[in-house]
Amino acid sequence: MPSRLSGLSEWYRFSMNQGYQFYSVENYWRLTKGGLRPPPPKTIVLRHDVDVDIGAAKAMFSIEHQLGITSSYYFRLSTADLPLMRAIAASGGEASYHYEELATEAKTRKLRTIADVEARLQVIRERFSNNLQSLRSSTQLPMNTVAAHGDWMNRRLRLPNTAILESLELRLLARIAVEAYDADLLTFVTARYADKVCPVWWRAERIIQGESGGPRLLDVPQTPTEAVCAGIPVIYVVLHPEQWRRGPRLHFKEQVKRIREGLEYRFWKPMHDPATSKPHPVTREVRLKTKANVVL
Ligand SMILES: [Zn+2]
Repeated sequence: MPSRLSGLSEWYRFSMNQGYQFYSVENYWRLTKGGLRPPPPKTIVLRHDVDVDIGAAKAMFSIEHQLGITSSYYFRLSTADLPLMRAIAASGGEASYHYEELATEAKTRKLRTIADVEARLQVIRERFSNNLQSLRSSTQLPMNTVAAHGDWMNRRLRLPNTAILESLELRLLARIAVEAYDADLLTFVTARYADKVCPVWWRAERIIQGESGGPRLLDVPQTPTEAVCAGIPVIYVVLHPEQWRRGPRLHFKEQVKRIREGLEYRFWKPMHDPATSKPHPVTREVRLKTKANVVL
């Protein structure tokens, strides 16, 4: 698939020419005083989830930096690129953590139900805190906001990684100002867009605070460009860099990884220690994966 980065660059320029101002999640949160004060009209919250392609993230950051745009980039442990993260922060943007400890634990331990996950939630939360602290130490960045990654395991369990942060105590201890999926962050957002693979390209949601206080979805312009044309006051855009410059090789590698994880999960049988007839506490596979999860 050819690069679509030039089209993205055009959208940035068009939006700026129409009077829109770009914000990172953290700066938007500050601007709205924690979701309490409306932002000025023509505001765009721009977020990138760096799932796979660090090179594409670098290319996007380069374009934005040249245009003076600041935004948020969330990195998984597997994509954390310390020089890039520091460069984003130095330019006034935000580089932080795209966390997935719940899905990782479910895959590693072969957890089958929500109850299985809930029984491990304390461990999962500790691992999240440790990984976040490790990233903060490595980068010397504050990482005041975080964003959950969406894994096939989350879809299978019907339980997002955001369940980790459904703990006020953890948020206070880990110094998390806001999670990128928090409803409070959307209080003044009119439309939210997330990029999708061809031929869909965009998922569009219009967000209006319902009588119950929660957001409800109505008709909305189908693309961010149309939203800018329509003068939508506050637009939230989520980009996945690999979808803008992805080659067949990268795509194939991801597919293989996804299939391998699925097969391991499906056909794994609990191992038993013959000496005690109890489930074997830690397999070699688990040890390796747990280690890989912590090391940056
Ligand atoms: Zn992700």
